[in-house]
Amino acid sequence: MNIRVINSVLLVLTLAFSAQLKAEWYSENAGIMGTNIYVEVWAETPVQGELALRAVMAEMERINQLMSPYIDTSELSLINAKAGQQPVVISDEMFELLDKSVNISELTKGAFDITFASVGYLYNYKKNQRPNEATIASLLAAINYKYIKLNKPNKSVVFTHDKVKIDLGGIAKGHAVDNSISLLERMGIMHGLVTAGGDTRLIGDRRGKPWIVGIRDPRDEKKQAVVMPLQDSAMSTSGDYERYFEEDGKRYHHILSPKTGKSTYDVQSVSIIGPSSTYNDALSTAVFVMGLREGLGMINRIDGYDAVVMDNQRKMHYSNGLQQ
Ligand code: ADP
Ligand code: MG
Repeated sequence: MNIRVINSVLLVLTLAFSAQLKAEWYSENAGIMGTNIYVEVWAETPVQGELALRAVMAEMERINQLMSPYIDTSELSLINAKAGQQPVVISDEMFELLDKSVNISELTKGAFDITFASVGYLYNYKKNQRPNEATIASLLAAINYKYIKLNKPNKSVVFTHDKVKIDLGGIAKGHAVDNSISLLERMGIMHGLVTAGGDTRLIGDRRGKPWIVGIRDPRDEKKQAVVMPLQDSAMSTSGDYERYFEEDGKRYHHILSPKTGKSTYDVQSVSIIGPSSTYNDALSTAVFVMGLREGLGMINRIDGYDAVVMDNQRKMHYSNGLQQ
């Protein structure tokens, strides 16, 4: 081959190779854990991009299989079936999440309580079903996180009240987002976003500009109430619009007071901004239950966390850290 031919072969190879190496945004949507999952990453190659998207979706599905109350074989279902009678040995991951849940119950004076499900499991928002007053009254005593006994050396859990059920709907998505972000970081992703329903966490910025994360209008899904420019941070939103039905003009939604076994009405939407999606998720549910004054007061006392609250008159409120 003469030099000119070699040069043109090299040129073709270089072009082909650099097309292969094209750094770009890669994104994907999927329906997992009863919600919309969205992942967006800046990757150096299509292979890196594809692997990153697949890793996150696989992680979401793994956690769904472990923590869904709707899957009979999930670890959560197994715990609910047995832990009211005897200690159940559980996975390290489940043990740690139950331990965190109990700690957050203490921090929030019981507003966040995964045993809400002792009554909560009788609501079916898709079928407009709710428990009657007598049923709520008979099961209310089974809502109390203090009935969850975790034994660290044995990695086991037992409920010291036989009617206790737990549900991780207020924390599992945040946990899944945190795990997904760790996976992406280990794959070398420097700019990325993972969203599971109302829980979002970001790696870096959007290459030279912040990520824009919206808080939707609780009464109009096409409108944003507020947009937050964020980077290297996370935000979770809890609202009375995610799962609900209406009966006689009353909205029965999925965030329940552990004291009453019923929906709370002080606010319409709570967003928590902080470094951990697991905590943001649980704290957004807790502040929703605590209401505006008590909830915002608590967030103002926790270092590194901020809140945006829309009250039941649609007025916006911000924690001290967000006020300029
Ligand atoms: P979503 O992203 O689904 O809107 P939220 O973070 O707003 O989730 O949490 C709502 C979910 O939390 C409910 O669907 C339920 O599974 C669970 N939950 C409801 N009330 C409580 C409570 N008081 N403590 C802990 N979890 C709760
Ligand atoms: Mg939450």
